[in-house]
Amino acid sequence: MTVITRFAPSPTGYLHVGGARTALFSWLYARKHAGTFILRIEDTDLERSTEESVQAIFDGMEWLGLNYDTEPTFQTHNFPRYKAIIGQLLETGHAYYCDCSKEELEILREQQMAAKEKPRYNGKCRDANKPQSDKTVVRFKTPMDGAITIADLVKGDITVANKELDDLVIARTDGSPTYNLTVVVDDMDMNVTHVIRGDDHINNTPRQINILNALNVPLPEYAHLPMILGSDGARLSKRHGAVSVMQFRDEGYLPQALLNYLVRLGWSHGDQEIFSIAEMIEFFDLKNVNGAAATFNMEKLLWLNHHYLMHGEPAEIVPHLVWHLAQLGLGIDANRDKSVDVVELVKAQRERCKTVVEMANASIYFYREFENYEEKSAKKAFSAGSDTVLTHLKNAFAQLEHWEKEALHDVVKNTAETLELGLGKVAQPLRVAVCGSGVSPSIDSTLSLLGREKTLARLERAISHIQTLA
Ligand code: GLU
Repeated sequence: MTVITRFAPSPTGYLHVGGARTALFSWLYARKHAGTFILRIEDTDLERSTEESVQAIFDGMEWLGLNYDTEPTFQTHNFPRYKAIIGQLLETGHAYYCDCSKEELEILREQQMAAKEKPRYNGKCRDANKPQSDKTVVRFKTPMDGAITIADLVKGDITVANKELDDLVIARTDGSPTYNLTVVVDDMDMNVTHVIRGDDHINNTPRQINILNALNVPLPEYAHLPMILGSDGARLSKRHGAVSVMQFRDEGYLPQALLNYLVRLGWSHGDQEIFSIAEMIEFFDLKNVNGAAATFNMEKLLWLNHHYLMHGEPAEIVPHLVWHLAQLGLGIDANRDKSVDVVELVKAQRERCKTVVEMANASIYFYREFENYEEKSAKKAFSAGSDTVLTHLKNAFAQLEHWEKEALHDVVKNTAETLELGLGKVAQPLRVAVCGSGVSPSIDSTLSLLGREKTLARLERAISHIQTLA
């Protein structure tokens, strides 16, 4: 049997990390079993669904690299099919028209609440054979007796007595299908074998199983994933910081770091923390998903991000850095602008940067002339006489045959020797002259990345600047 899993988000906001984790687990399960992974957009709530949210889902999935095997489907394109199934359930006596008014149901609810009973539909129209009208909804006839046991792959067996469930509405007065109906029809038609979703849906599962039973089709397996909490124990939300996948991108996280973080959120494989995608696929198993809620830990994510910046393949980090540089208005395109070797830039910067945003910000001067020298560093590095040092360096750099790290390093070293100065007394004015501040990668890497032209121009600028100070 081919494993078929799906991610079925409702496009009513950004792609939340909780959703991304559900998507990741479904994707991993499909990949592990050489199965199929489906993306299904559950957009039947016309008031809350938006085009931007659909796009945010596509963008988030693409950025994370969670590819799907079929064209994404939209539930709003499938209304005739839902209607047909509602018709079938009516015909086979598994559903009925109900004309109880909102007011009537509200009164019933209040009475039940007052009697400390669970509010539920009382089945008034169940056997009344009501004809269809523009005031009728369709309700599913939930079996009166028996129980449903969900053999949940994460949480174990969960049994719910049918008498706890009322007759749920499957079509509204305008004929539009409700959530539980559309999910059942799609899961059935798409031959989904494993429904992997958040445990906020656990209450829906027995209802969905009853509908599937009424349709006389085999049941999928279910795996309900525990929710994600913020550090204060409340459900993870905006007030805990970034929660949208694209916000993590904007804040300079690498997709691999976020995936690695998310896979460990409720799942473990011994005490291994770092997983390549191939390892995640190899080791992932629903059995090892913890049934209890998991707490989101930003610091650990940041640690992982630094890990991937430090140890990732530089060429794979390049597109992310290029994207962030473009966000800073540097408008560079790695394929066109070859003036800076971005692979080398990543290698030079990664040690001191925890996010790609930090890396981009620390790299601006490689692309754009800085406006002013950072005051403190300039004060320290530019003193009377440092123009002589810089002039000496400039002349030597101008004559270099090959603009290479080793040769650049030798120039700095020889200058210090010739002028009988400590290395710092040469390197620091040089650094401030070319970077505008006292912080940069090693001076030979910095110069090598900057190139001859920018280096010489900036040295000239610094020399004039120092001379005006005198
Ligand atoms: N559309 C539902 C949601 O976004 C998920 C439904 C499901 O996975 O069955 O919460």
